[in-house]
Amino acid sequence: MKHLSEYRDAGLVEGVLKEIRRTVTRPWTIMEICGGQTHSIVRSGLDQLLPEEIELVHGPGCPVCVTPIELIDKALAIASRPEVIFTSYGDMLRVPGSGRDLFSVRAAGGDVRVVYSPLDAVKLAAANPEKQVVFFAIGFETTAPPNAMSVVQANALGLRNYSVLVSHVRVPPAMHAILGSPHNRVQGFLAAGHVCAVMGYWEYPSIAEKYGVPIVVTGFEPLDIAQGILQVVRMLEGGEVAVGNAYARVVTEAGNKPAQELIGRVFENCDRKWRGIGVIPDSGWKLRPEFAEFDAEGRFDVAAITPQESPLCIAGEILQGLKKPLDCPAIGVQCTPEHPLGATMVSAEGACAAYYRYGRVPLE
Ligand code: SF4
Repeated sequence: MKHLSEYRDAGLVEGVLKEIRRTVTRPWTIMEICGGQTHSIVRSGLDQLLPEEIELVHGPGCPVCVTPIELIDKALAIASRPEVIFTSYGDMLRVPGSGRDLFSVRAAGGDVRVVYSPLDAVKLAAANPEKQVVFFAIGFETTAPPNAMSVVQANALGLRNYSVLVSHVRVPPAMHAILGSPHNRVQGFLAAGHVCAVMGYWEYPSIAEKYGVPIVVTGFEPLDIAQGILQVVRMLEGGEVAVGNAYARVVTEAGNKPAQELIGRVFENCDRKWRGIGVIPDSGWKLRPEFAEFDAEGRFDVAAITPQESPLCIAGEILQGLKKPLDCPAIGVQCTPEHPLGATMVSAEGACAAYYRYGRVPLE
C-alpha cells in the first residue's frame, strides 16, 4: 500500500537504526507522546533494537486512558436514564468507571449505542425527538473538529434533545506539565503526528525554547518513528534546541486552519483533570457559553459524582514518563485487559495494555 508498506520495510528501518547507533554517544531519555506510537514501538520491538543509551518513555497521549474516572461514572449515570440514548465510539464501552462499564449499563437495559461519528448521533437525535441523545465527546485535538461540528449542526437543526459529555484534552499543556515537573526525565519529545495534522506545530518552538528540549513531529509506522528518534538524537547530540518535522507527508506547521477555526467557534480553553495525573491548567476544552445548552453535564444532574482510583495503580507516573509498565507489581496479576485497574490498561492504546498484549509481561 502506498505510503504505508514502505514505512514498515525492515531494511529501511534498519538503515535508520544504524544511523542512530552511529550518532549516539551518551544516554538520552525520549518520550513519545502518543499511545498509538507506544503500541507501534512495542509491537515492532523498536525500543529493543535501539542502542542502550536511548530510553523511550511513554507519554499521556492515549485519550481513553486520560479520561477522568468521574467522567466515566457520569457517563454511566446518564446512560442509565430511561429517556437517554447514549452514544459513543466503541472503545469507551468497556472502560470501567468505579464499578461497571457502559456494556453493563447496556446489559441492564440502558440504550447505549456505538456510533462511528458524532454526526450519526445528531441524526439519531433528529429521528428520536422523544429521547435525549448524548454523545461521549472525549479525546485530543484530533476528535475535537467532528465533535464541534455535531454541536454546530444540532444547533442549526434546532435540536434541543442532543448534548455532548465533553472531556477534550490538549497536548501542549501536558508537555508543559511534564517538562515543568521537578521530577522530569524527558530530554526530547516525539510529538504526535495526527494531533499536529490538525493543530500544526506552531505552538511547539516556545515549549522547546522554554525547557531546552528538541521536539520532532513523528508519525506512527516503525520507519516514521525511527526517523523521528534519529532527528531528536541528532539535535540532542549537537546541543540543538529546535522543532523538527519527520512527518512532512501529513503535517504542516500551520495545520488545518478550518478545523482550528471550527474548534475555536465551539470550544474554549479550561482547566482539565487527566486520569492518573490530576488537573493540568488550561489543558482542556469545554463548550463556549453560547453552546452551553448542549452540555450534558448541565442537562443531567451528575455534579456530585466523586469516585476513587485503585491505590495499586501507578498509571499517573507512567503517563508522565517517571515509571514504565513493568515497574507496576500489579501488571498481569491483579491488572489485565479483562480486569483493568487503571488508565493505561483500560485502553487498547494504553502503555500497560501494549506491554501485556505484546508479551513484555513475564509469565509467573
Ligand atoms: S498495570 Fe494496571 S495497575 Fe499497574 S499501572 Fe498499569 S493500569 Fe495501573
